[in-house]
Amino acid sequence: MIISMHSNARKKEIKNVVREIELLGYKTKVFEGVRKTVIHIIGATERDRIKRKVENMPGVEELIPILHPFKLVSREFKKSNTIIDIDGLKIGGEEIIVMAGPCAVESEDMLLKIAEEVKKSGAKILRGGAFKPRTSPYSFQGLGKKGLEFLAKAREKTGLKIVTEVISVEDVPIVSQYTDIFQIGARNMQNFSLLKTVGRFNKPVLLKRGISSTIEEFLMAAEYIVSEGNPNVILCERGIRTHEKYTRNTLDISAVPVIKELSHLPIIVDPSHAAGDWRYVGALAKAGIAAGADGLIIEVHNEPSRALSDGKQSLKPEKFKKLMEEIKAISKSIGRKI
Ligand code: PEP
Ligand code: MN
Repeated sequence: MIISMHSNARKKEIKNVVREIELLGYKTKVFEGVRKTVIHIIGATERDRIKRKVENMPGVEELIPILHPFKLVSREFKKSNTIIDIDGLKIGGEEIIVMAGPCAVESEDMLLKIAEEVKKSGAKILRGGAFKPRTSPYSFQGLGKKGLEFLAKAREKTGLKIVTEVISVEDVPIVSQYTDIFQIGARNMQNFSLLKTVGRFNKPVLLKRGISSTIEEFLMAAEYIVSEGNPNVILCERGIRTHEKYTRNTLDISAVPVIKELSHLPIIVDPSHAAGDWRYVGALAKAGIAAGADGLIIEVHNEPSRALSDGKQSLKPEKFKKLMEEIKAISKSIGRKI
């Protein structure tokens, strides 16, 4: 159960409510959000007793019973969709937002070329990894700080926002100086110290689903970020590992409507890492939008055969352009804009 306090509740009122709850024998966790404070009563069973005790206490707005283990990200806690606003660009609203770009930033020139192409086709956010989490320690690990600088230059030239991955706690401050959105990759979905660290920043986080994680584990990972005070989480379904081998991962398309019901957070689909092969990217992207996703993140490369990572699943700019036209048609038919 959660007690939501009025936005103008005083510190003393919050303290009094916490004391009353603890006198009933429960532990509490207090979340001081940007707009208001909420008090989570851990393992609350006697709802009526709690209600009688605190309902009319000064500062209390409402009591919300939450049955799921994830609380702040649940639809029970917040009925309306969360819309993340990045200088006027809204994720989770009526508009479908497409993020596109190379898997990794390889050079300034290449990044700028791709950025201009994807922008022309309607992408609003440029993706590109500067710190790459590679399966092999011998594979290209990314350009690091140089890569961040190239991303910032591409933003300056094109006006696109940028999203880039942060793979360790110590890199969070430097990445935050450059990026508009932190990306937490599938391999780090349960890196709890990394989740808590980005949770303390006032910057949106694109959280990718872990390679073998359940929807519940995924939402619990988002809860880690939100419970640290950062409500701006964008979830990303990017395929999970199954017994199937013809695709790199299996896009769990049902995760989209299920998460829309369970959570108020926006969810986007990554068809590139799900498919692992550019030939299937379009079909998965279209399925994601038709299923209700708020956007897509797609790998695009001008020379996929020479890409330093994930070339096999990268679309050439002209293929991306064509796909965007199809996505526009689907978006329109389900009453959404792009
Ligand atoms: C990526 O976006 O390039 C990436 C590494 O994705 P994921 O974490 O989903 O594997
Ligand atoms: Mn990639």
